[in-house]
Amino acid sequence: MAKKKVQIKKKIQAKKKVQTKKKVQTKKPKETKFIGQVTKIRQTEPRTVIEWPRAMTHVHTYGLLSPFFEGLRKGELRATQCPNNKCPENRLWIPPRAHCPDCHTEMIWKTLPKPVIGKIYTFTQVVYAGIGIELSTPYWQVDVEIPGLATIPKSYLLRGDPYIGMKVKAEFRTKKPTNTVLDYYWVPYEG
Ligand SMILES: [Zn+2]
Repeated sequence: MAKKKVQIKKKIQAKKKVQTKKKVQTKKPKETKFIGQVTKIRQTEPRTVIEWPRAMTHVHTYGLLSPFFEGLRKGELRATQCPNNKCPENRLWIPPRAHCPDCHTEMIWKTLPKPVIGKIYTFTQVVYAGIGIELSTPYWQVDVEIPGLATIPKSYLLRGDPYIGMKVKAEFRTKKPTNTVLDYYWVPYEG
């Protein structure tokens, strides 16, 4: 009886060995695989057209305007000003300018005192935003008059309905900044 058991064990072992050997023999040779996204056929007539998705990273420098975006990250609205006292335009600029549009002198930076309160000059409702404006639509685009500015910058009203002359306060997306101009916006101001 004991002998039989040993024999069976040996048989099993031998079988296992064969199986292992077989596995090695049947292993598929390495093949080159397609690792891309399968394209979709848009049309076949009169000629084949495929939809081929492509991703792109646009590397963009803010250059001399970088302090404006640093300011937004800190919850500050920064403007540029011409330091040339012979220049006819000494008011502040937002969006900032690297050089004075009137005399071409390099601008200096001024931080607007908080809270920044403005007045809606005009507004429009945006239903279809352009590429790069990642805001849910429809949203209110507002042009806001800010005291001391030579410009009337465009931004958006976060909540509420705008009217001409409405007082608004600047707020900032400092928690999860987009590092774009979308990081400042306006909210209704009671005061
Ligand atoms: Zn100037």
